Amino acid sequence: MTKRICPDCNGEMEKGFVPDFSDGTAMVACWHPGVPENQTLMGLQVSRGAIKHDRNELKPITTYRCVACGSLRFYAS
Ligand SMILES: [Zn+2]
Repeated sequence: MTKRICPDCNGEMEKGFVPDFSDGTAMVACWHPGVPENQTLMGLQVSRGAIKHDRNELKPITTYRCVACGSLRFYAS
């Protein structure tokens, strides 16, 4: 595994992820292309905060945290 160095302070970065608890369980947060739009059905919003998305476009986000300054870097490979 490649060691990541913080671009802000040159500290060592630790690999992790951002848990998403919005679906009643812990899942890995994902990246999606585009601008978020409310999810609607017949012109009405489906549920508060629900957004349109394509599951095939989702990419799990890997997050690195600098152990020295706390800076975060996100990657969606
Ligand atoms: Zn740092």
